[in-house]
Amino acid sequence: MAGPHPEETRRHAGGVSDLEAGRLLFAGPVTFERGAADMTHLPDADRPEVAFAGRSNVGKSSLVNALTGRNGLARASSEPGRTRELNFFLLGDRARLVDLPGYGYARAPKTEIARWTSLVRDYLRGRPGLKRVFLLVDARHGLKENDSVVMDLLDETAVVYQIVLTKTDKLAGGEIERTVSATQAALGKRPAAHPLVLPVSALKGNGIPELRAEIAALV
Ligand code: GDP
Repeated sequence: MAGPHPEETRRHAGGVSDLEAGRLLFAGPVTFERGAADMTHLPDADRPEVAFAGRSNVGKSSLVNALTGRNGLARASSEPGRTRELNFFLLGDRARLVDLPGYGYARAPKTEIARWTSLVRDYLRGRPGLKRVFLLVDARHGLKENDSVVMDLLDETAVVYQIVLTKTDKLAGGEIERTVSATQAALGKRPAAHPLVLPVSALKGNGIPELRAEIAALV
């Protein structure tokens, strides 16, 4: 029998059973496990995990809260403290979500950028069980220079990453499709980039079941 059609293997996890698997994965308990400011404080890599990265204010905390259905689980990056750490959340006993510190503060000193880069590079290089990084990009702004720098880091460490366009409720329907296509086109020559871009709105819930399904298929 012939294998799956090429388009079929590129499609994201959006079938009814995939959506149900995603719903179930996130229906159980989700708990904050720990923050880690360096590699010695990471939890044991004893289960699969997916990580979330993005510029500060991209909507990362809102997305983690929307995925888990728990407001206040992930804190906004405007708040001090845990936001410079890798934050680990347990999805029942099956998997982990990892909230990477936001980047791209306009006035971040060079030492701060170097610290971010070294922490994230060490994590990406040395984390067995890391299945994918979801790289969040504001749908209104598209890919920015500092997103490219992070994509270079992901390509270099060969960690598969998938772009998630956030705040799509701020765009009209046709604009969402155009931004998805333009972003997908911009990924063409990037070796570790997943070819499909996922549009979401944490505010309206659009794309959240599909992203849950994508994560369930990975873990
Ligand atoms: P973080 O810094 O990446 O964690 O971003 P936050 O989750 O704190 O969100 C930054 C700002 O964007 C806040 O004012 C949120 O209310 C807003 N925001 C986040 N997600 C959405 C969304 O899906 N739609 C809209 N319209 N605003 C959003």
